[in-house]
Formats: sequence, structure tokens, C-alpha cells
Amino acid sequence: MIAFEPIAAIATTPHACQRLQPLCQTAEVTLYVPQSLGNIPKTQVYPDSLRQLLPQLWSSHRAIVFCLALGAVVRLIAPLLQHKSTDPAIIVVDETGQFVISVCSGHIGGGDRLAQLVARILGATPILTGSANALNLPGIDILGVPFGWKRGSGDWTGVSAAIAQQQTVQVRQEAGSTLWQHHLPATHSFDFTSTQTPQAQIWISPQHRQLSTEDLPQVQWHPRVLWVGVGCERNTPKAVIETAILDVLRAHQLAEEAVAGIASLDLKADETGLVELCQARHWPLQTFSAEILRQVTVPTPSEIVQSEVGTPSVAEAAALQAAQVQALLVSKQIYRSPQPQPSEAERIGQAVTVAIAIAQQEYTGRDGQLLLVGTGPGQLNQMTPAAQTAVTQADVVIGYSLYLDLITPLLRPGQIVESYPITQERQRAERAIELAEWGLTVAVVSSGDCGIYGMAGLVFEQLRAQGWRGETPGVQVFPGISALQAAASRVGAPLMHDFCAISLSDLLTPWEMIEKRLKAAAMADFVCALYNPRSRSRTEQLSQAQMIFLQFRSPQTPVALVRSAYRDDEQITLTTLEELTEVSVDMLTTVLIGNQSTTFHQNWMITPRGYLGFTQ
Ligand code: SAH
Repeated sequence: MIAFEPIAAIATTPHACQRLQPLCQTAEVTLYVPQSLGNIPKTQVYPDSLRQLLPQLWSSHRAIVFCLALGAVVRLIAPLLQHKSTDPAIIVVDETGQFVISVCSGHIGGGDRLAQLVARILGATPILTGSANALNLPGIDILGVPFGWKRGSGDWTGVSAAIAQQQTVQVRQEAGSTLWQHHLPATHSFDFTSTQTPQAQIWISPQHRQLSTEDLPQVQWHPRVLWVGVGCERNTPKAVIETAILDVLRAHQLAEEAVAGIASLDLKADETGLVELCQARHWPLQTFSAEILRQVTVPTPSEIVQSEVGTPSVAEAAALQAAQVQALLVSKQIYRSPQPQPSEAERIGQAVTVAIAIAQQEYTGRDGQLLLVGTGPGQLNQMTPAAQTAVTQADVVIGYSLYLDLITPLLRPGQIVESYPITQERQRAERAIELAEWGLTVAVVSSGDCGIYGMAGLVFEQLRAQGWRGETPGVQVFPGISALQAAASRVGAPLMHDFCAISLSDLLTPWEMIEKRLKAAAMADFVCALYNPRSRSRTEQLSQAQMIFLQFRSPQTPVALVRSAYRDDEQITLTTLEELTEVSVDMLTTVLIGNQSTTFHQNWMITPRGYLGFTQ
């Protein structure tokens, strides 16, 4: 829940307190309770009235979750509300715990998303009343957030209303990722081709436009694509550099918000004014050596610069290098501060050169995350709340189409969902890493547990091969119920004693190795779960496994074949080791082979642990 923290939760009754407890276990949430409730562990007691507490929480928290009557909440927050771009997200949970209502700051404040997450954690239904939700569209005022775009000026309410009324909304996208366009529901009313008469307009561009308020409602988003190359004399003050950059941007109708960052020569990495400016504006400062800059072809090289710093261009070359392009949007502009120079002794730098290049891909300014998620065997209620939350939270969800279908209820409007055929595991991992490196939060889903014959290992292997240093992108693994547990739960308690899992797929493991492990497991009397027992092209392995087990175990050893556990087409067959191959087994089946003490009792498969004394 990182995006919403810090979160305050408020409960005024013991019941409400209990309701909100699970939130505190899952996330960084402080639960506030009145003094009258007495000492409840892990809560923060507020001494006076809630009305006095709220103004303090308002400015210091990004979200407030109430378990209180909606009417009371409305009255309490009314005097504090200022603007949806600054107010914290307000969420109300009803005391029975059935509903989670997103009350205020649903889009920009993230309230809708938080309500969905809280609902997942509490097992409740989220109530979102914004019209974009009904249309299954992303809110227009949060459209570019995953890509780090900045909101520019415009009539946001007017454009949102036009979208809600399904009027034609023209989109003029001149920069930034178009990924969002490919994941809209079929019924959207955006016009990307500019062929219809629009009733509202959305600009996605590095340009700053003076939007007229008279005709149709318009808004502008600014993807951060502009790399501003800067050269300056030593000791040029921050304000002079800033004015130089803003002047050039303004002269070319470019938006400040579209600046990705500043690029310069490595000698400037400690240039105080430049460093201060970048910090103040949250612009990254990329610097390059003279050796690198020297190799960049620029329109306005200078011999003087060459003789001073060893490259004929700083601003132009650095802008091109940072943007990774060949042509500039704005070639070198020289700015001189009009301030009179003090005395020679106090000489400060006054000349700044600025050039701008436009990158193909926007700078997101975000650290990407890879969430490796196990979705469990099938039904949603077999998936952990943490894993569900991870999927809902992600900007992008990547997986095999069949498993993505099973988790559709967790997906939210505006999410980028990429499904791949079953064989393309590598492509999935590569794509996930690529998007996470760019700054997105990407959930990679596997059925069962993602680290058991799932995607987690593949993603880690790929990261390692690329020289990943363990920090960016960040990785979190969310376990799931694996097929062996799911299958076992449907037939009893077959895994009660030492067991092992063996995959019969020889696509990535040589058959000799599989055979060796089967033999060792059979010999050591492990209960065995066989994954991938058969595919269309592999039919022999299961009977070979059977023969190996028959060398060490009785033909009467109980065996369970569980196909599609916890899915609509679930099939369960109880049989014996000798009859195992008589039953049809496919790639959706897990085979559980008992050990020497496993028995059937009333259609349940039981492996005794020895409590009653009859294990071996
Ligand atoms: N990561 C998964 C395993 C993927 S390998 C997990 O932890 O469960 C694919 C194999 O898992 C299938 O060939 C089958 O043997 C087993 N499997 C996956 N889902 C199953 C289910 N719902 N019921 C039975 N077996 C299943």
C-alpha cells in the first residue's frame, strides 16, 4: 500500500476497532481510538474529540479510513475539505464490514484504489461512485500517473463530464506511451484519429497550450520527455540557470512539466546552482564525460568550449546523449544574466547555454516494482489477500491467459493487462522486467505458487543474467497455494509425512535426472506429488514413473489423481499404484502417490504421522 502511506484509521467503538484490525496487520496504518475504549494494544489513543484530532491528521496523512457512519464522516470532514488535488483520500468502512466506500479524493488522491485494496483485505465490497468506474475507464485526471506524466492546465471537471456522458473526446497524443490506449474497453468514446467533431479534447504533449475556456473543455497532460542540456560558467547561481531554462521553454511553448531532467558535463556534477535547482524541482541530473560528449554530432560546436573542457559541445551533446536521439528540438541558446557583475573579486557565473532534446520514451521518475504473485489453484477465495492486493495495486498485470481469466474480478479500470500463450514464459519475464525497469509496478502471475514451477524463478534468473543489483526494480514475492496442497486438500491428508514434488516435464530437465529423483524418492518412502504428469507430446513418462515406484512400493499403494482442483471442471480419482495408468491423466492433473503407510478410509486418503502409533 506504499502509495497511500501514511494512512490513519479511526474507530470509535470496540466493534469498529476489531473491523479495522486486519488493516493494521497488512500495512503501515495507525489506528486511532478514543480514550473511552480503554487500552487496546497497537492503537493510538486520542484524548479529546475526533473533531479536534482530524485537522492534525488531515495535513500529515495521505489517506484516512473511518469505521463510522457515513453521515458522521461527511459532517466531520466538511470544514476541512479544500481541493481534490490536495485532500487526503477518505474511505468509510461500515460497521458490519460488508462495504468499503470511497468518499473523497477518489482519483488523484487514490481513494478508489485504496477502497478496493481495503475491501480485498477485509473481504468486503468496494463502493466506487465515480462515473469512470461504471464505464470501466481510467479516471482522466490519473491517466498518466503510472508513466510519471504531469497534469497541466485545463478543465478537468468538464472533460471528465464529457467522458461520463460518452461524448466524443478527441485525444491528441504527441508524446508518451500509448500503452493505455490499447487497454480500453470497447465502449470508450475517445477519438484518436481526429475524424469526428469533438465535444472535449485531451492533449498529451510536451507543448504548453493556452487552452481557451470558451469552446470545448480541454485538458493537457505532459509526459516527461524533454532532456535539457545545460552548460554554465562556474558559480552560476541557481536562479540564473533556472531563468535561462524557463525562458527557453517558454520561447518554444514547451511545458515545464514535460522536463524529464537536466544533462551536462561531468565537471558540472557538483555545480552548486545546478545541483540545487535539480533538487528543488525533482529533476535528475545526468552528467557525461567529455570523452562521451565529444563523440556526439551537434549542430553548433564551439572551439572555445573544446579548448576549455575537451568537448566542442556541452549543452547540445548532453541533451542528445540523455535523450538517446540524434536531433535536437531546440539547438543551443545562450542566456546572459542582466544583473550587473559585482566586482571582479566576487565574480559569479552569468552565462548559461541551454539545448533541448526530446526522448522517445518518457522518464517516469518512479522506481519500478516486480510483484511475483501466486494466484492459487483456481477460485479467488483460495488466493491470499496479500496476493489479491498486489494484483489490484499493479499498473501492469502479466500472465498466461487462462490464469488471467480466473483473476478478472481483481483487475481495475485503466490497468494494463498483457496475456501471453502458455509457452511464452521467457517473453513474459522479459516484458515484465522491461516495464519495471522503466518505472512501472508489474505483477507477474502464476497459478498455484509462483516459485514452484512458476514465473518467480524465471524472473529472478533473467534479472541475474542482466546484472541486476538487487534494488531497482524492487521485487516482492507473494506465495500461493500450490497444486500439491490444493490436490491434497481435496482428498484428505496425504502429505502428512515427508513428501516431495517432482515434475515429469523433460522440456528443461533431462529425463535421466527425473528418473534418478523418482528412484530416490520412491526408495526413501516419500509421499510424492507429480506435476506435469503428461502433455500431448509426452505420454510415456507417467508409466515409467509408475514402474519405478512399483520397484519399491506395493501395487496397492493409494494414489490420487486431482485434475483442475478448485476450478469448475475439477475431477478427482482415487486409485492404486498398479492401476494408475488406466485412468486418463492430462497436464491439468496432479498425481499424489502415497507412502508405505498411506491408506484410504471412506474415500479419504490419509498418511499417518504416527500419533496413534501405526506409522513405519
Ligand atoms: N506453479 C504451479 C505449478 C505450475 S506447473 C503451482 O504451484 O501449482 C503446472 C502443473 O501444476 C500442472 O501440469 C499440474 O500438474 C499442476 N496443477 C496446476 N494447477 C492445478 C490444479 N488446479 N489442479 C491440479 N493440478 C494442477
